[in-house]
Amino acid sequence: MSGTAASEAHGIYSFGTRAEEQAMIVMKFGGTSVGSPSAIERACSIIQSRADRHPLVVVSAIGDTTDRLVGAAEVGPVAGAEVLMGIRDRTESITRALVSGGAASEMVLFLDQAMAEASDLLRTLDSSSDGASPSAELDALLGIGERISSRLVTLALVHRGLAACNLDSRKLFISEARHGGASPLIEPTGERLRQTVPPIVSEGKVPVIGGFIATGEDGSPTTLGRGGSDYTASLAGAALGAEEVQIWTDVDGVMTADPSLVESARSLPLLSIREASELAYFGGRVLHPSTMLPAIESDIPIRVLNSRHSEAEGTLIVAEPSESETVVKSVVYKENITLIDIYSTRMLMAHGFLAQVFAIFEKHETPVDMVSTSEVSVSMTVDRTESLPDILEDLSEISDAEATPGKAIVCVVGEGIRYTPGIAAKVFNSLEGIRIRMISLGASRVNVGFVIDENDLEVAVRRLHATFFDEPRLRKGQLQ
Ligand code: ADP
Ligand code: ASP
Ligand code: MG
Repeated sequence: MSGTAASEAHGIYSFGTRAEEQAMIVMKFGGTSVGSPSAIERACSIIQSRADRHPLVVVSAIGDTTDRLVGAAEVGPVAGAEVLMGIRDRTESITRALVSGGAASEMVLFLDQAMAEASDLLRTLDSSSDGASPSAELDALLGIGERISSRLVTLALVHRGLAACNLDSRKLFISEARHGGASPLIEPTGERLRQTVPPIVSEGKVPVIGGFIATGEDGSPTTLGRGGSDYTASLAGAALGAEEVQIWTDVDGVMTADPSLVESARSLPLLSIREASELAYFGGRVLHPSTMLPAIESDIPIRVLNSRHSEAEGTLIVAEPSESETVVKSVVYKENITLIDIYSTRMLMAHGFLAQVFAIFEKHETPVDMVSTSEVSVSMTVDRTESLPDILEDLSEISDAEATPGKAIVCVVGEGIRYTPGIAAKVFNSLEGIRIRMISLGASRVNVGFVIDENDLEVAVRRLHATFFDEPRLRKGQLQ
């Protein structure tokens, strides 16, 4: 298992001083927080009530627009036309419920242009060999959702009397020229943000940008990966020296488990950056795994808040939280995992074998999440499978390799795990009867993770939650 991804990034997020000193915050609203007219109204009043803190607003695509665009690319231009029509009609009705007159006509015109662009992209994707695999065209298609939502939220804010303006994120965020989830280039992105945003904020205006989208250094459209708007927000927060990055979502902050799976899940008032990073990396969909990277170095607190329940305290993520009594903070999971088992007698007493294996994954640009080894085998997990056939072919030259899809990673996260013996035993006792395919205790020792069949996922998460949160609480340093 990798260590905390965060520590690897040390150094790259440091920025020079800002051109213009203006205290400000970043507020990011996710898909459900802008998913209907009433949700957008709620988001607008939250922004308005914090206008004195000079927010930069980051928005995701409306509701499930990005999923729908992915679906359109999968079914091709003919069936995809209907998907686009559905996006268009829903967005138009949300627009008309929020704004009227010239603003509504302007938005509908933009929507029609965006849909024409989307259908051109569907045709281009269809004529290429595999329309649904990562490409500049697919990134351009997926990014249309954020371009639409940021414009609509801007108009809704203006309608309320706020001086809001829409900025094009593609001109602000520069990334490497990789598709399907690019890494941002910190220097040019920071420079552009610092040049553009503070002067607007100083004039008392509220800039609104779409999350998730960027431009590759070769000028091609890119994205920061699914769920990437959180990362957009923290990158902007670090570049602009914001006082706080607020992630507004549909639950009361980061919770002890995904509340859609565990009814008794409750929210966590405080998390360390390390806990939040591990939790996001191993599943907890509530935050994109890279969100914490910029915050670590710039020491900017991240607050996760509920846009449907804005007075709730939410979760504060800080570098060094005060001592917590709770050993385990959250049980998270990640579905759609493929387990790769690699056997080779060449491994026995030999050196260099693992390096060869990892070089193959590197060559095919496929990240590995978890690894465990024995004398003659290595097991690893991946969630990106587009290059899997090529990887297996290359692996077959040095080993017997086998890939099994349909797995899930479950991970128990908490700083207290480091100080408390016996956590792993407690974890595995609760999983009696469930077949565990792989086990890993992270180097940072704030997590215990394992791989199981996807079919066992719900039972495993619920049992672990019951063990650590519903039974009398485990205190640091002691095992019941
Ligand atoms: P947004 O659209 O605001 O970015 P997401 O759907 O990406 O929201 O993330 C919020 C969802 O994350 C919640 O609705 C919840 O189902 C899920 N989730 C998974 N694990 C956790 C957790 N540990 N704490 C809170 N939410 C979680
Ligand atoms: N809209 C994008 C997605 O669904 C990015 C985001 O919501 O953060 O992945
Ligand atoms: Mg999200």
